[in-house]
Amino acid sequence: MEALIPVINKLQDVFNTVGADIIQLPQIAVVGTQSSGKSSVLESLVGKDLLPRGTGIVTRRPLILQLVHVDPEDRRKTCEENGICFFLFASNNLRNPECCVIVSQGISDEPIQLKIFSPHVVNLTLVDLPGITKVPVGDQPKDIELQIRELILKYISNPNCIILAVTAANTDMATSEALKVAREVDPDGRRTLAVVTKLDLMDAGTDAMDVLMGRVIPVKLGLIGVVNRSQLDINNKKNVADSIRDEHAFLQKKYPSLAARNGTKYLARTLNRLLMHHIRDCLPELKTRINVLAAQYQSLLSSYGEPVEDMSSTLLQLITKFATEYCNTIEGTAKYIETTELCGGARICYIFHETFGRTLESVDSLGGLTTIDVLTAIRNATGPRPALFVPEVSFELLVKRQVKRLEEPSLRCVELVHEEMQRIIQHCSNYSTQELLRFPKLHDAIVEVVTSLLRKRLPVTNEMVHNLVAIELAYINTKHPDFADACGLMNNNIEPFASTATRVPVARKLSAREQRDCEVIERLIKSYFLIVRKNIQDSVPKAVMHFLVNHVKDSLQSELVGQLYKPALLEDLLTESEDMAQRRNEAADMLKALQKASQVIAEIRETHLW
Ligand code: GDP
Ligand code: MG
Repeated sequence: MEALIPVINKLQDVFNTVGADIIQLPQIAVVGTQSSGKSSVLESLVGKDLLPRGTGIVTRRPLILQLVHVDPEDRRKTCEENGICFFLFASNNLRNPECCVIVSQGISDEPIQLKIFSPHVVNLTLVDLPGITKVPVGDQPKDIELQIRELILKYISNPNCIILAVTAANTDMATSEALKVAREVDPDGRRTLAVVTKLDLMDAGTDAMDVLMGRVIPVKLGLIGVVNRSQLDINNKKNVADSIRDEHAFLQKKYPSLAARNGTKYLARTLNRLLMHHIRDCLPELKTRINVLAAQYQSLLSSYGEPVEDMSSTLLQLITKFATEYCNTIEGTAKYIETTELCGGARICYIFHETFGRTLESVDSLGGLTTIDVLTAIRNATGPRPALFVPEVSFELLVKRQVKRLEEPSLRCVELVHEEMQRIIQHCSNYSTQELLRFPKLHDAIVEVVTSLLRKRLPVTNEMVHNLVAIELAYINTKHPDFADACGLMNNNIEPFASTATRVPVARKLSAREQRDCEVIERLIKSYFLIVRKNIQDSVPKAVMHFLVNHVKDSLQSELVGQLYKPALLEDLLTESEDMAQRRNEAADMLKALQKASQVIAEIRETHLW
């Protein structure tokens, strides 16, 4: 079977590339009655006598012989890696420098596994099965026939198994148990090859002409007669080569017309052909698989980007792309749409209208102000003379104090938007501008520039928001149209607030006048406060947009270009991450290997005429 070695070797390269054994060579299993010569047939195929023959060792256990092709150099290494126990054959013949590993010495029905590592074999599995038996002998169980039958069927029913049905020439071919059992699992005879052994032991005056011509039983893939070594030959240590030479002489003499289509060599060639056919049948699928993989690696490779050729244009492109993505994320037109949470512009909107809006609404117009505070303020405003009217000064003082409470949530709003703007940087470099990950230094530099731009805008925006509140405090506009209604209260008698009494735990009982004055002031504060709160709720988001968001959006590109687009920085900024360079190289290598593999397959298809 050495003819297969170059083909399989070439394919092995392909296997190594695509990382799987796509072509599984069929197993070859021998079936037949006891002592029909099964082990001998396998042995002459392998070309070495290493199978137990005649003795009882394989009577009840299958023997799995795994041939493993290795390069001459790493034979020993392979052995040591695999071996529970290994031995090297030193001399010629059986003692070729192969090594053999007994993988398992199973108990009862478990197979015995032998691995042979050699440069002279192809990766192939041969199975020596126990002989079909009818009558239990010795300590064999009563149902031995059934047990063995099931064991044999287990192996040969595998559709990827070539069955060598062995029948001795000196028994009746018409009732061959081997062909019978083979037919059960392979009725069409697609994978059964009949082997007729012991041609040399036929009775004088008889020959196997009819059998070998297929006249007794036709076998689709053929009937091949062989002469193996007799027990005497084995005892005399006759080697395989001599045996094959003698077999050839015997066939020439006894069956001159059939000699070319019989014998161990022809059997080996036939098996070769079957295996080659199998390989041929696998090639199209292998080719498809390789093409698919090649396409995958091609797109992987292009996703890693080309190696940088023109540094300055690459830098400019990346900066522009980042800036565009940043703005798009704010505008809501980004390519990558986040679905798990709000981000970018949508989140800023949420901050303005939900977070900030609701916080402002929860600021109570009279929060932190007790009736006593109000009363004290009124009394302080009137000075030494008792007043006829509620003093306006006390209203102004108190309402300013309340308005001031709007500043803190307003500044908090700026902070939240600032945080979100910071978060967008990460978002952009993670999802939108994947290419940036190739250049960690550029990535860091961009993050730094944007961060510092944001940081620079923060105090400006805070200042503006602070001023918005300060502006409100600067002038209490009692002529505000929405405030006019409330002013009427100053002059007219009013219904007492039901709520006032409950709002205050007052230490002493207020006089009717005091109570009325407090109520008037509280109502005015409330009315005016609502006007201011509405203003702030409206103007703070506008200020944040103008001074922070839009400003950053508009100046981002030029800021990045100004700080990073410098000839002196190019080299450093566009240093690729080692990781990425390595991944690109790996993908490129893989692609090359796949293209080579594809070529190898084409070669095999062309050069090995099937
Ligand atoms: P198995 O039980 O089917 O595995 O049979 P073996 O391979 O162990 O062979 C049984 C016996 O028959 C052994 O002593 C072999 O030497 C002998 N034998 C096998 N094939 C031939 C053959 O073609 N000619 C002769 N003369 N003896 C053979
Ligand atoms: Mg045997």
